[in-house]
Amino acid sequence: MADAGGLVVSAHSADFVWRAGGAIALHGARGAPMTVVCLTYGERGESAKLWRQAGMALEKVKAERRKEAEGAARILGVADIQFWDLGDYPIALDETALHRLVDVYRRLRPSFILTHSRRDIYNRDHELVTEFAQHARIIAQAHGHKPGERVLGAPPVFLFEPHQPEQCGWTPDVLLDITSVWDKKRAAIECMAGQEHLWEYYTRVALQRGAQAARNSDKAIVYGEGYQSIFPRVVESLP
Ligand SMILES: [Zn+2]
Repeated sequence: MADAGGLVVSAHSADFVWRAGGAIALHGARGAPMTVVCLTYGERGESAKLWRQAGMALEKVKAERRKEAEGAARILGVADIQFWDLGDYPIALDETALHRLVDVYRRLRPSFILTHSRRDIYNRDHELVTEFAQHARIIAQAHGHKPGERVLGAPPVFLFEPHQPEQCGWTPDVLLDITSVWDKKRAAIECMAGQEHLWEYYTRVALQRGAQAARNSDKAIVYGEGYQSIFPRVVESLP
């Protein structure tokens, strides 16, 4: 059976790159189609460098951000990237958007879901998106929602590393070896011209998680990505 692939629910249009670019490239290369939903462009809150340019306007920022994200998605091998343009800072997550995401879950039936951390004291949009993504998953599993449609199973949910995990109560319990696709992740990171100050920051994060992944295994891992899972893993053997 073909791999249903993974779904990434990204608040702003660069989050999927910093926080999950390795996972996306890795699974995409293995033939698992990766879908990325960018709920907003991060046009107000995560585009400081663009706003410093003279004559900048909201629509221009959005267009730039879209171009950057599309370039990154191409490099990472994303099968489908969607821009919902809901508006950021504050993000506008209404019932229409919720039902739209429920429909995406049911249509894709992804093998796994990636989204933001439960807490992010630096970014309210991120916290709201985590709750939103979870809420949609719950509705997609409900037999009474659009009866007759096939309900969603129980895809595991992995939460992105926030910018400063210590302040956000986020602890990684999954370390993903992304060494083989690091070049792609770095190239995708460099598509994010509006947030150049984060390129080296997220390279250091990947090196730290890689060193920790090596320490927790007997593998020669250089680059890693950390996730926090929120449901118990169901296994048939230990380890
Ligand atoms: Zn963001």
